[in-house]
Amino acid sequence: MEHLCPKCNTALTKCIATSTTGKFSAIKLPVKYFTAKESSELFPYVCSTCGYTEWYVEKPENFK
Ligand SMILES: [Zn+2]
Repeated sequence: MEHLCPKCNTALTKCIATSTTGKFSAIKLPVKYFTAKESSELFPYVCSTCGYTEWYVEKPENFK
């Protein structure tokens, strides 16, 4: 899936965010522990022209 920069229309580059646990995730509220179905890893998409960044989860269907 390709995402375009809303500021300058450049194709965004998928990146990873680093943290001490190695995974940066979004979890649907209220947080229930051990429910992988309602969470997903987060990936920043960076515009290489202006630096604008958007965040996308790997599995948006997990938040329905
Ligand atoms: Zn841009």
